Amino acid sequence: MHLAAEIQGFAGDDPKMARLVSYWGVTVLLYLLCLGILWIEVYSDVAPQQPAIWLTALAFAGHGLFYLLIRKSKQLGLAPAQLSVYQGRFAIIVTVLGYTIVGPMRGATLVVLLVILVFCAFTLEAQKTRSLSVFAVVLLGAAMIGMRIANPERFETKLEIMHFVLIGTMVVVVGFLTGRMSDLRSALKLQKQELADALARIQELAVRDDLTLLPNRRYMNDLLAAEERRRAAAGGPTCLALLDIDWFKRINDTYGHAAGDHVLRRFAEESRTVLRPHDVLARWGGEEFLLLLPGTARADAELVLERFRERVQQLPCMHEEQTFSVTMSAGLIELGTTEACSSGISRADALLYRAKSEGRNRVVVSGPPAAGTHQAGLATPAFAK
Ligand code: GH3
Ligand code: MG
Ligand code: MG
Repeated sequence: MHLAAEIQGFAGDDPKMARLVSYWGVTVLLYLLCLGILWIEVYSDVAPQQPAIWLTALAFAGHGLFYLLIRKSKQLGLAPAQLSVYQGRFAIIVTVLGYTIVGPMRGATLVVLLVILVFCAFTLEAQKTRSLSVFAVVLLGAAMIGMRIANPERFETKLEIMHFVLIGTMVVVVGFLTGRMSDLRSALKLQKQELADALARIQELAVRDDLTLLPNRRYMNDLLAAEERRRAAAGGPTCLALLDIDWFKRINDTYGHAAGDHVLRRFAEESRTVLRPHDVLARWGGEEFLLLLPGTARADAELVLERFRERVQQLPCMHEEQTFSVTMSAGLIELGTTEACSSGISRADALLYRAKSEGRNRVVVSGPPAAGTHQAGLATPAFAK
């Protein structure tokens, strides 16, 4: 437990950061192995001690610095890919320097170059991995020529050419293959993002009405069922209202269906500014809306609805230079203590009918029903038409 906490403290909480630190940890192990071989050669007198000390110091300093850069990358604004390029270049330089120091076993150190490129392919784009392989081949060639000139006894031309051709070919091939791997990784990442976007859109469509962006009937049914459960457990008043735009057919007939759609959208937008955050207005069907006012008694609900009715009345609606206005009628009820929402909706519907017949542009209100005259809650799961 203690060890896990220590590791987490070292790698950070962010999973991306922890992944980068774990890559870093593996490269440290790899370096320790290579430096171990170098020091065995130093103690066997086949590699010089002073350059080995410098190289060891450089490797440790570089890795310490990279650990800090990884952990502080967010604050420094360093992207993981940029850091990987720096780490890759540094690793290649250290390996090539190691190659110039190590004795007869130096050919083996070049395998490390391949491992570096494979590592980089996990975080880099294909193009960057390929340019790193070119960097490795050019640096290795330059180091071989330099050492051949400076130290002809240790660096035999034939052997160096063989090393160069062998490792150069492998680096180019591995660079190409890991580049392909990076391409596949990028394509997978893109696909994953597209799938996540599509899923989010599907989830949105499942709960929202396309035209008004209000919760749809299906989602409202879920909310009503949840509200019934909440009331059964906690009690408290709840109001429901059915709202309907007056003479809506006439608007369609006079100004066209698009103007009717525009009115529905404006109506929904207005509801977002007038209604309280915990009230939910859903499109119940056509130009009819269901409003749920949880934890609200009849008097407060009436104030909310009256305010909304007045705002709707003042709403300027436009159609090709012509301005017109709309009104709405509503039937508002307070649910009985054990009344089912479906029963409340039926009562609200009857009141809406009354609002229409009494002249429209009004809210007709009723309190809870007399005990025993309504359908009890939680027994009626469906509100669907
Ligand atoms: P009342 O005042 O009695 O409610 O009259 P009304 O004309 O509003 O009611 P009615 O039920 O006769 O007409 C409703 C109209 O709403 C009929 C239908 O074509 C129209 N409608 C339903 N859904 C949509 C929609 O999404 N867009 C548009 N533009 N019209 C719609
Ligand atoms: Mg209507
Ligand atoms: Mg209607």
